[in-house]
Parts: sequence; C-alpha cells; structure tokens
Amino acid sequence: MADVLTDIWDKILSYLQKHHSQYWRSWFEQIEPIGLENGLLRVGVPERSWQQYLKQKCNETLLEAARKITGHLISLEYVYTDQNDLLNSDLNQKQNGENNDLIFFNPDYTFGNFVVGPCNRLAHAACIAVSESPGCTYNPLFLHGSVGLGKTHLMQAVCQAMLKQTQQTRIMYMTCETFVNDFIRAVEEGNLYDFRYKYRYADILVIDDIQFLAERERSQEEFFHTFNTLYQSRKQIILSADCSPAEMPRLEDRLVSRFNQGLVTRIDKPDYEMRMAILYKKASIRGIDPPEDVISFIARKIYSNTRELEGALTKVHGLAMLEDGKITIELARQALGEEPTPAHRQITISQIIESVTEHFNVRLSDLQGKRRSRSIAFPRQICMYLARDLTGHSLEEIGGHFGGRDHTTVLHAYRNIDRLCDNDENIRFMVNSLMTGLTQK
Ligand code: ADP
Ligand code: MG
Repeated sequence: MADVLTDIWDKILSYLQKHHSQYWRSWFEQIEPIGLENGLLRVGVPERSWQQYLKQKCNETLLEAARKITGHLISLEYVYTDQNDLLNSDLNQKQNGENNDLIFFNPDYTFGNFVVGPCNRLAHAACIAVSESPGCTYNPLFLHGSVGLGKTHLMQAVCQAMLKQTQQTRIMYMTCETFVNDFIRAVEEGNLYDFRYKYRYADILVIDDIQFLAERERSQEEFFHTFNTLYQSRKQIILSADCSPAEMPRLEDRLVSRFNQGLVTRIDKPDYEMRMAILYKKASIRGIDPPEDVISFIARKIYSNTRELEGALTKVHGLAMLEDGKITIELARQALGEEPTPAHRQITISQIIESVTEHFNVRLSDLQGKRRSRSIAFPRQICMYLARDLTGHSLEEIGGHFGGRDHTTVLHAYRNIDRLCDNDENIRFMVNSLMTGLTQK
C-alpha cells in the first residue's frame, strides 16, 4: 500500500513540476504521503509555512493532478507533522494558535535562502541578532531600501526563525496597510479596546512598508502609542520602508526620533556577483540547475531589483517547461526578449569608460585624475556605478581603474548614484540608457 501511495504522490508532484513549474519547490521532496482513505489523500509536512503554501498556492493544481492520475475525485489534506510541536499543540492552540495561524509566511523567505553580500550585510546581521535575542539588541530595527531588495524576505526570515525556536512567541506581522485598515475599522466599530489589546499584547511587532503611515495622521498617533507600549516592555519592533525615517515625507518628528532610537539600516542593490549568487539560490529552491551562461546572462540583463531577477528566471524556466525542460542560453534570450547572438559578450570597464566619456564629453585622464569638481566627479561616479552593476569586478578593482581610489570611495559613489536614481527621474533615465547601450551593444 505504501508503495502505491508513494507512486501516486510522486506522479502528482511530477505533474505539478511539468505543468505549473512556477510553484514547484525543492522541499516538495520532503513531503511524505501518509494515507489514502475514502477519497482523502493525506500528506505530512514538517513546517507550518509549507502547509500554508500548499493550501494557498498549489491546492487547485494538486487536486487537478490527483484527479488526472487516480481517475477519481479525491481531496487533499496537508498535515503538520512536527513532533515536538505536536506535544505542545494544545497549549499552542490556546496561547497563540489563533494569531500565528492567520499569518502567511513565504517558505522561501528564510535566512538560509537569503544571499548575503556587501549591499545587505548589516541588515542581515541585525536580523539574525534580533531573531536570537528579540528586544535586546537593536530595537526598533528599521530596514529601508528601494523595492524588491529583500526587506520583506528578511523580516519574514526573522519571524520564521523565531517560530522555529518556540511556537509560543506571539508575532504580529503585517503590512502597514493592514495596520491602518485594522485601525480604521476599529474606530468605525468603536472597538479600539480590542484593537489595542491585540497589538500591545504582541511579543514582536513587524510592520512592512511603514511609509504608508506617512499620510495618515490618526493612524500615526495610534501607532505612536502602540510603539511606546511595546518598546517600554522591551518587546521587539521591526519596521521596513522604501526610505529612511528622516526622508519620509509627513511623518511626525516624534515618530522619526522613535525610529532612529534603534538601528536604521539600508539595503542597496545587489552587484553583478550577488545577482549571480541570488539566481543560483533561487534556481536551487526551484529544483533547477541552469547552466552558468544563462545565470550570467540574466544577471547582466536584469540589474534593477531582485524581484525582477527572480521573475526573469521564472520566465525562462516556464518557457523551458513548455519544451523539453532544458534551459539554454538561446531559450533565455528568447524568453527575455533578445535575439540569440553567437557569443555572449562580457562588458568591460573600458567600454563603460568609453560610453561615459562620450556622453559627458570628458577625458579618461580626467576620470582617473584628482579633480573633484562636479563636472568630473559625477561622470566618474556614474562609471563606478555601472562598473559595479555590470562587470564582475570587485570594489577594489574598480577603484584601481579610476586613479587608485579605495573601495569605500567606490561604494560611496555607488550609493550616491543609486540614491540619485531613486530621487531624480532624469538621472535614472540617463543611467538606464547608458546601461541599455552597454548591454545591447
Ligand atoms: P522588498 O520587500 O524589499 O520589496 P522582497 O523581500 O519582496 O523585497 O524581495 C523581492 C524578491 O527578491 C524576493 O523573492 C526575495 O526572496 C528576493 N531577494 C531579495 N534579496 C535577496 C537576497 N539577498 N537573497 C535571496 N533572495 C533575495
Ligand atoms: Mg516588501
């Protein structure tokens, strides 16, 4: 019977992998079928977030597969099988089951799946520290950076790591929008007591995209009090936003100063090497193994943010699954909208210098010299930015090409241009067109 069951389950998973590859994850192999009785197939999962993922993302597809494979209308149940946790399950249910069960964490968003590099090292270290001793190290922890750079991933990783240590932790994790809507509803229903109890009773409060609070005065007021109550009882608070507290328009000063009380850390865009590492990681989570030229092609082509990087991989993988499942460079070019060319070209610092000197009408000797006037320093910084994003060179090597400048100067240049791109449409456009020129030459 066990063999028959395993066989059915394996076939169901193969179906999912073949027809809906975007949902496939390598951890599916750890799911164990438990039994098939009265048309109900039960499978065991060792993590709650897996259970939620299967229910919310894959249920329809798995049901469709199960029907095709068995020829019967069967239903599926995902059973949580953590033994330690089951021992305490009564207690858990009573204490916090209500709360934590409602939160959906993405099983991909763990520390193990997070690639650490120069652009996020501090944010990552702070999140690890907070997950190990909440309320004691950095409180509040404020992560900021532009969209798609891993803020949500890190915050969920903290929550999931804490839940792994003890299911008893009362975690309030939500987007700021949910907080605001919840507050508005509580006001309308005259139910502020319950609202306050719920939020102020948390062991850890995690609010994503707090910039949403900027426009909302009454919610800010309420949040201020929630914050103070939790902070005073040494409960951990983690916040994220697309800019630093000081840069947030229309945020009350007292909130800005509260946010600055702990650690404020910025996540920058990943450089080329890191984009490669992230793609390898994402590929392994999806149980695929694309060749290096494909990974490098995607990492060069997509430089704006990590979410798009992942989207590109999904696209290439999806296209491959429509054919024979093999991921090739031709396929990648087809999926990402570029005609296949015979050889993949490496972008060099010389090419970058050539484009930039031409665009700004400056000389190479100026870029390598000591002058710091804006007319020279700005194109120099653009060169460093492009070199970091488009070539595989380290910060030291890039500095070496520009008059022996050290790595902190290159990092500073990178951050400066990145910030300018965020805030100034003209600069963003100029940088993008230089990038496009270089990548599509
Ligand atoms: P943000 O909240 O900053 O907008 P997300 O956390 O949603 O960004 O990240 C977008 C995608 O990029 C997610 O799939 C996330 O897993 C991935 N990602 C971002 N940074 C990293 C990283 N350093 N390592 C692995 N994946 C990353
Ligand atoms: Mg986010």
